Amino acid sequence: MQIEINGELRKTKILLNESAIQERVQKIAQEINQHYPPHETLVVLVVLNGAFVFAADLVRHLQMPTEIESIRIRSYVGVQSTGCIELLSPLPHSIVNKNVLIVEDIIDTGRSMDFLLKALNAHGVKSVRVCTLLNKPHEHLIPIQAHYTGFEIGKNFVIGYGLDLDGKYRNLPHIVEII
Ligand code: 5GP
Ligand code: MG
Repeated sequence: MQIEINGELRKTKILLNESAIQERVQKIAQEINQHYPPHETLVVLVVLNGAFVFAADLVRHLQMPTEIESIRIRSYVGVQSTGCIELLSPLPHSIVNKNVLIVEDIIDTGRSMDFLLKALNAHGVKSVRVCTLLNKPHEHLIPIQAHYTGFEIGKNFVIGYGLDLDGKYRNLPHIVEII
């Protein structure tokens, strides 16, 4: 598959296929099930739009009572991080005094997660943990350690399985890197 970015045709390569992703999602869910008390409510806070596919697969393997909430933040335009994070929706009130699991698609510079963790801690949650499908450890500008990580990847921009390029390609069942 070739895609156009800023008028230039770029090649793509499959980085993670559907079965590798599904296998890893089940493993992460097992770790989450082992960590949290089985009868205590867990609020899964999905970072939209990117994490919606991952979160939908992940929550179906969770065994504790879960509530699903979502927030929208924005840091990217095209393939560039703007460095300026915006909360596009308010934090849900239902997370106060709850165990919250943030579900994110990817940690790149770490700015978005740093911003979100500060916002949640100021909001009065009982506990907060981070679950990210992808992590780009060499791109971090702020040290962020997720509690659950699907895959560590290199610096190439990736799309598919929820991740977009200017709003498109989120529907791909696998993850593709732009080379
Ligand atoms: P950070 O604030 O860590 O730099 O960036 C986090 C957000 O940037 C992610 O939630 C995601 O929306 C976007 N992002 C970072 N790297 C990529 C990438 O390779 N592909 C896509 N589609 N989005 C990315
Ligand atoms: Mg995101």
